[in-house]
Amino acid sequence: MFQHIVILTGSGISAESGIRTYRGDEGLWENHRLEDVATPEAFAANPDLVYRFYNERRRQLKSPEIRPNPAHEAIARLQREYPGQVALITQNVDNLHEQAGSKQVWHMHGALTRARCTACEQSRAWHDDLDASHACPDCGQRSTLRPDIVWFGEMPMGLEHIVEQVEHCDLFIAIGTSGVVYPAAGLVQIARQQALAHTVCLTLDPPVNEHQFHDYQQGLASELVPQLVDALLAEEK
Ligand SMILES: [Zn+2]
Repeated sequence: MFQHIVILTGSGISAESGIRTYRGDEGLWENHRLEDVATPEAFAANPDLVYRFYNERRRQLKSPEIRPNPAHEAIARLQREYPGQVALITQNVDNLHEQAGSKQVWHMHGALTRARCTACEQSRAWHDDLDASHACPDCGQRSTLRPDIVWFGEMPMGLEHIVEQVEHCDLFIAIGTSGVVYPAAGLVQIARQQALAHTVCLTLDPPVNEHQFHDYQQGLASELVPQLVDALLAEEK
């Protein structure tokens, strides 16, 4: 039995729930590239545009069509039922893991459902539209709240804790990740530094770092993840 499982999820798991990522050639939002609305520079130059982009995405999470899929649900079940530790790290900014019932989710690229104050640095849950007119509930200043999202050029969140989790895992599972975005793509190498750690990757398209995993399975997360979770829980009994 594994004592300490670490799961890393990426955009592939959310894509199956209908979440768009705006990455790639055709991933434009109102003719803007993601790189033009997801930077500190863009926010400084045109905060209203950046607020609007994230308000749309935050609203999308409330739409009835956007639901966690069997992959999110299987991970939540593993966290509930597995006797060992199961740490969940995601590159996704949506809240589908939480909607599926996962309690502790490390959002290394931030979360759409949180706002952070640039004056007092407090972060808190935020489920409605956000704009410059809102006052920070903590320090009372206006025009200081921003989406609690890691923009291009910013440091991922909780990296120290995440690396520590991966350094102590004996099973590392990457799901729906491209293997392109660092430092997330480098976590498998950290896992591989433990002689006993097993590494598994489940994606629809082979990731660029496929060769770094002991086991690679190609297919839909909504099919492969429930199978893997069933196997892990069956081994246990
Ligand atoms: Zn504040």
